[in-house]
Amino acid sequence: MPSANFLVLNPTVLSYVFAAALLLSLLIKFWLNGRQVRHVMRHRDTVPAAFAATVPLAAHQKAADYTVARARFGLLSLAFNAAVLLGWTLLGGLDLLNSALHGLGWSPMAYQLSLLAAFALIGGLLDLPFELYSTFRIEQRFGFNRMTWKLYLADSLKGLAVGALIGLPIAALILWLMGAAGPYWWAWAWGAWMGFNLLILVLYPTVIAPLFNKFEPLADESLKQRVQGLMARCGFAAKGLFVMDGSRRSAHGNAYFTGIGAAKRVVFFDTLLARLNGAEVEAVLAHELGHFKHKHVLKRMLTMFALSLAAFALLGWLSAQPGFYLAFGVQPNLDGRLPNDALALLLFLLVLPVFGFFFTPLGSLLSRRDEFQADAYACAQASGADLASALLKLHEDNAGTLTPDPVYARFYYSHPPASERLAAIAAH
Ligand SMILES: [Zn+2]
Repeated sequence: MPSANFLVLNPTVLSYVFAAALLLSLLIKFWLNGRQVRHVMRHRDTVPAAFAATVPLAAHQKAADYTVARARFGLLSLAFNAAVLLGWTLLGGLDLLNSALHGLGWSPMAYQLSLLAAFALIGGLLDLPFELYSTFRIEQRFGFNRMTWKLYLADSLKGLAVGALIGLPIAALILWLMGAAGPYWWAWAWGAWMGFNLLILVLYPTVIAPLFNKFEPLADESLKQRVQGLMARCGFAAKGLFVMDGSRRSAHGNAYFTGIGAAKRVVFFDTLLARLNGAEVEAVLAHELGHFKHKHVLKRMLTMFALSLAAFALLGWLSAQPGFYLAFGVQPNLDGRLPNDALALLLFLLVLPVFGFFFTPLGSLLSRRDEFQADAYACAQASGADLASALLKLHEDNAGTLTPDPVYARFYYSHPPASERLAAIAAH
């Protein structure tokens, strides 16, 4: 019976659309990366006029070399990741893994969880050489890495244990809902996923982060008073001020807020406090408070909630289509003995980012707009001059380039390029 139901997925069409999207995204990524490398190299030997008085040529050149080294390495991992993605999907890797596991006679849940775990382990192993090279070669060469092999190993084992402890129960819950909650399982699964995310937000600062770092209450009295004065001025309550031993792993500095509601805490990396004076720390914190005051954090969370609802609804539709599996090289289990839910989840997580990539510039644009707003807030609540000098120091310490390719920066940068940011701060 011929039927023209366009709601039935045609696997051939879908696999061509996927291959075309992957190819196009690769072309864009390679083109942008090439632009960035050429632009940075062209400006390597001259500090931009606006920074000539504040940034030494050697620091500018180090930033250029670091940027180029990361971009070149990025090309290699791009190509590798695309090959791995093709290997899992069109070349039949996931199908191979699936057929190895589904003949073992395990219970449906054990089979599905083992599929997810095996996939995650293989993916982690494939990534490992790249992570090691990035940490122990590139970061090391530019003097940023403080990680020892011993610490790296301890981190990996702890990460694996925490991942299994947290990941397997939520995966089991979602898989169970997929099988047992009827045609609208995706709405229930979304609810479970949101609840899980909120739980992690609460648990992260007090339970998970302390597994990896030491948090000590901020001891510097004068800085504490300065920071508390700022928070009182801004009408902001936090549970505590902490210093984290970020220097155990990296020389990069940072400050952040974690937690929600009354459990919020402010965390300073020790590397940040070592580098900035009190007024500069205050200005950086004022910038972070600006994100809260403008509700950027809340808006981002709500956006994430809405997008994940759409994603679960899409998965709800796709997972019921045999064409969805066939398009990506997987034979679904059709005998009804074993569910296809874990397969659907994996395929979805593999394929979705290929299409999501094309929205990167939009996300970057919105993020940069937030950064400008937070800077403006910091200029009103603290000193713009201190914020500018703090940003410049952090920029130099992180070897961020002052001369990014404009197109590359528009596409990827979540923070405005230093020149634009400092010009906006100076104008306040
Ligand atoms: Zn910010």
